[in-house]
Amino acid sequence: MDINGTTKVYGIFGLPVEHSLSPAMHNAAFSALGMDCCYVAFHVSPDMLGNAVNAMRALNFGGVNITVPHKEKVIPFLDAVSEEASFIGAVNTVKNESGRLTGHNTDGRGLMRSLSESGIAVKGRKILMIGAGGAARAAGYYLCREAATLYLYNRGVEKGEALAMQLNGLKGNVGLIDKDTFGNTDFISGVDVIVNTTPLGLKDDDPMPMDMALLKPYHTVCDLIYKDTRLLRRAAALGCKTLNGMGMLLWQGVLAFEIWTGVTPPADVMKKALG
Ligand code: NAP
Repeated sequence: MDINGTTKVYGIFGLPVEHSLSPAMHNAAFSALGMDCCYVAFHVSPDMLGNAVNAMRALNFGGVNITVPHKEKVIPFLDAVSEEASFIGAVNTVKNESGRLTGHNTDGRGLMRSLSESGIAVKGRKILMIGAGGAARAAGYYLCREAATLYLYNRGVEKGEALAMQLNGLKGNVGLIDKDTFGNTDFISGVDVIVNTTPLGLKDDDPMPMDMALLKPYHTVCDLIYKDTRLLRRAAALGCKTLNGMGMLLWQGVLAFEIWTGVTPPADVMKKALG
């Protein structure tokens, strides 16, 4: 990479951010396209978030990704947010146009691209989403529009209720289920696709996000975590089709790249850079 006086800077703000795969993915695309741009990971603590966002204007960054723990907190520092980011209440992509910062959220569309690329149909199907955090809001925003029914289960009832109510404003097809239903064989048997949006599985000794005894070979099991979690490995061993979060990471990055540059990046190059 040739960094020079005209190189446009992009990056990611997060904490921790050192592990991020986004620099490799975006730099590979800039390089493949011969674009005079670079992408850097910035360690931004919560008390410095406002300063970091203002620095985008001061230093004329092209744009940044926003990751944990700033996706919600960044919104007040921006000039505008897209309709989807506003609904989701979280931003993962900021574009800088002459000092005017607009927030977007490409996570949900990234998941949908990953599902379709993997041949996993969601249209007209019964989907169970586990979790009601930021990733669930982004995923649910798109999943409920495609699904016949989107069932939602969350450990914390109030948060689950709030998300179900909000998503029901879109198509009216979201059902919040309680713990008993979540553990009920007949209920799980009637579901087609299960999507884990909780961080359970990041560590190999985490408990399973659901009762594995209820899974049937015809279930499709997706995890937003970037690797093949214990949930996915056990589901695959049972004969289920599975999908991890790597494709979602790739496609949210492809979409962010398009928002910043107006250029469609080579997804195959970005995928290879993710390893
Ligand atoms: P978050 O906002 O903190 O939400 C976490 C959700 O998981 C909450 O609903 C929480 O339930 C639930 N949860 C957490 N610990 C739990 C436990 N021990 N038992 C049961 N439920 C638990 O997090 P997030 O931003 O949504 O991220 C969730 C996951 O998605 C992370 O692993 C992240 O890496 C992944 N993600 C992947 C991508 C991608 O591109 N592939 C993008 C975004 C996020 P309560 O409400 O009860 O606390």
